Amino acid sequence: MDKAPRLIDPFARAITYLRVSVTDRCDFRCVYCMSENMTFLPKKDLLTLEELDRLCSAFIGLGVEKLRVTGGEPLVRRGIMTFFRAMSRHLESGALKELTLTTNGSQMARFADDLAACGVKRVNISLDTLDEEKFARITRWGRLRQVLNGIDAAQKAGLRVKINTVALKGFNEDELFTLQEWCAGRDMDLTFIEVMPMGDIGNEDRLDQYWSLKDLRARLEERFTVTDLAERSGGPASYVRLHETGQKIGFITPLSHNFCESCNRVRITCTGEIYTCLGQEGKADLRAPLRAHPEDDAPLIEAIQAAIATKPRGHDFDYSRGDVMGRMSRHMSHTGG
Ligand code: SAM
Ligand code: SF4
Repeated sequence: MDKAPRLIDPFARAITYLRVSVTDRCDFRCVYCMSENMTFLPKKDLLTLEELDRLCSAFIGLGVEKLRVTGGEPLVRRGIMTFFRAMSRHLESGALKELTLTTNGSQMARFADDLAACGVKRVNISLDTLDEEKFARITRWGRLRQVLNGIDAAQKAGLRVKINTVALKGFNEDELFTLQEWCAGRDMDLTFIEVMPMGDIGNEDRLDQYWSLKDLRARLEERFTVTDLAERSGGPASYVRLHETGQKIGFITPLSHNFCESCNRVRITCTGEIYTCLGQEGKADLRAPLRAHPEDDAPLIEAIQAAIATKPRGHDFDYSRGDVMGRMSRHMSHTGG
């Protein structure tokens, strides 16, 4: 099988990683992500499960080796296991190396075994606090117990769990070591995410919530020997090892530019728009060629290649001067976090 990547952007980067949002809906309303009264897209605008299959399969045919399913909350999409089962054929053929998802964990107890059976080996579960009351406050609609049960189920099914925690000033600063110890005790990696200026969600001022990961790391260094790991994901994450526990800790700083030169990824929204850069508005519609040619993938493949040919060199968030430059008008739940 020809393993040469076939999606190469103008800066000679091979696109091997696709993140696909399968729904804009969610059973939580995290304060940094959604407003309480969200208006969701009409169902007809969303890609059907069959369209998602065709689209992802086209990317895999073009050299994508890693597929991350996200949302909204991917596990609230009706029939989503049909999609996972369909994608597992690409794992079996060897074309796809990894099939994974990012989830809030609320439905994990129901789906962990099915996901494992589809060849999913690792999952990212988002969790910002281990305090029941704070959890209810930050997710508005979530219950901590449900997510903890989901995490138990995932581990029981043999899935490797990574916890994703949004670093929020004045909210979970005091839980840094509680979360770190809890993850170490359960053999889970932990990644912190810097809060991003995404979408207009009305209430919270995210500059107030901004807790720099530099500061967070400095606090870890007060207690541990922290060593940088060479490993890069091709995305905005960097990793360190805590010498004393052997634990891996990740830092996702989407506001920095220092990963753009190795960027290997594109994102698809639940309506079939492709975004070639996390921090720029540049997008193209892939739903139109999908729907106009139900039997023929050639126009879709052409549209994908045309979009990759416009992938920008890098992105442009800037928190300087106390203003949020490059604030994105889209919600993360739409593009997929
Ligand atoms: N619902 C799933 C979940 O929460 O894991 C998947 C989608 S969610 C948009 C993906 C990730 O984005 C989550 O880890 C979430 O915490 C993070 N996220 C959402 N809004 C964010 C923001 N404004 N800044 C930084 N991270 C954010
Ligand atoms: Fe839902 Fe995930 Fe957004 Fe929270 S971060 S509201 S769980 S999509």
